[in-house]
Amino acid sequence: MKYISTRGYDRKYSASEAIVLGIAPDGGLFVPESIPLLSEDDIAEMANMSFYQISARVLSKFLDDFTEEELLSYTSQAYDPEKWGENTVPLVQMNSYNEREYILELWHGPTAAFKDVALQLLPHLMTASIRKTGESKKICILTATSGDTGKAALEGFKDLPGTEIIVFYPSDGVSEAQKLQMITTTGSNTHVIAVNGCFDDAQTGVKNIFADTAFAEKLSAGGVKLSSANSINWGRLVPQIAYYVYSYVDLLRREKIEKGEAINIVVPTGNFGNILAAWYAKQMGIPVKKLICASNRNKVLCDFFSSGKYDRKREFFKTTSPSMDILISSNLERLLFEITGKDPAKVKEWMRQLFEEGSYTVDPKTLRSLQMLFVGGFADETGVSKTILDVYDRTDNVIDTHTAVGFNIYNRYRQRSSDETKTVFASTASPFKFAPAVMDALRGAGYSNGRSTETVIKELSEESGLEIPEGIRDLSSKEILHKLMIEKEDMEKTVENILLQ
Ligand SMILES: *Cc1c(COP(=O)(O)O)cnc(C)c1O
Repeated sequence: MKYISTRGYDRKYSASEAIVLGIAPDGGLFVPESIPLLSEDDIAEMANMSFYQISARVLSKFLDDFTEEELLSYTSQAYDPEKWGENTVPLVQMNSYNEREYILELWHGPTAAFKDVALQLLPHLMTASIRKTGESKKICILTATSGDTGKAALEGFKDLPGTEIIVFYPSDGVSEAQKLQMITTTGSNTHVIAVNGCFDDAQTGVKNIFADTAFAEKLSAGGVKLSSANSINWGRLVPQIAYYVYSYVDLLRREKIEKGEAINIVVPTGNFGNILAAWYAKQMGIPVKKLICASNRNKVLCDFFSSGKYDRKREFFKTTSPSMDILISSNLERLLFEITGKDPAKVKEWMRQLFEEGSYTVDPKTLRSLQMLFVGGFADETGVSKTILDVYDRTDNVIDTHTAVGFNIYNRYRQRSSDETKTVFASTASPFKFAPAVMDALRGAGYSNGRSTETVIKELSEESGLEIPEGIRDLSSKEILHKLMIEKEDMEKTVENILLQ
């Protein structure tokens, strides 16, 4: 299977080329030429498989220049029970008398956020892809982070031969725990840099560096090639499709649903990567009724699904769910391409308008087809706080602020629709990663003021009876190794200084 760019058909790429490049040379995103289907036999066979095996099967459908054996060796290393526990991505029934709600816990990996699922695997895919494409240059992973991608990518690529990794994070747009996790990263090839600005500034800076062909040539002459670990890289997205397939198979084998029965999937959304993976799972043949796209107060997607107008010219809010504080949801470009029947001219024009004018409006036909499947909604911080407390009271589960955005939107959707469909909630982070906001929700607004993050993390552990994840323990006693802070105009220069010295 070949990959094409959402902005034109200039050339077709193999899966490994798409992974090495990260972003298409014309600035578009790579998408598969067609979407592979899961046969009934595939699904029946998966009933006897564990997550890493299901993952390899799903990957093999998309990445056909890899064999399934090869992929199995990567997924078994990436999802080693030593790092994740026996169950990589547990699907937990909310409580014993509720047969409708299931929470897909995606945060049992090294950095306690869902991004580990893809980023523990991507380095394996990347090194193999480099080999397969005959690339001999050093690969530099260049990434902008809203908090969780950064650390997950650093952990994945740390000390990986033949790679450097540079992470830009918004100076005050990430949680204290997220920041500490990143700036204490060890490894001889890791570089973590604060950018004075918000996530969109950092992401735009990174995209501009990728689009600068003169800069690419300069790096190339110095023996370096850039690639991306953001969800714009197809290699980031495809491992995420696997856990939606897994959750469906798991519901089937636990006899919670019948063969062919559709489910809803609720995803707290920022860059639109995680929910797009759910959309691909549906296209592969997993029966899905509604995809519920949950936003925080930066509700650009929610407005888009109701009006068809994507408008980034608006006030930017810093919320208690910082990994979703995003106004430019890059992966929507892939969905637009697919839903317009693969129309690169349309996509290119909308992206031009977004870049030059700050907004675009899709045609009524495109909007209608989006609205048949997607339900958008947004929650503010008070709503998120109430939802955390409500879910805890109702079910004894402590959820993080991002996951709570999903529950909040779903609860309102269900009230107006009375939809009884079984529902899977993507739980995207451990509550410990956002402990101050979670404890404020459980103990009352302002509770964590004046308490150190470390104290609040300990108190959350006592309150919930949950163990503090390894990746978050003792953060403040670790040495700070990355102190550089720059202006957004200086990102390219900084990359050059690091890579070409
Ligand atoms: C990244 C992230 C999100 C948003 O995921 P997208 O794929 O960018 O939509 C949601 N929750 C958490 C905890 C995250 O780290």
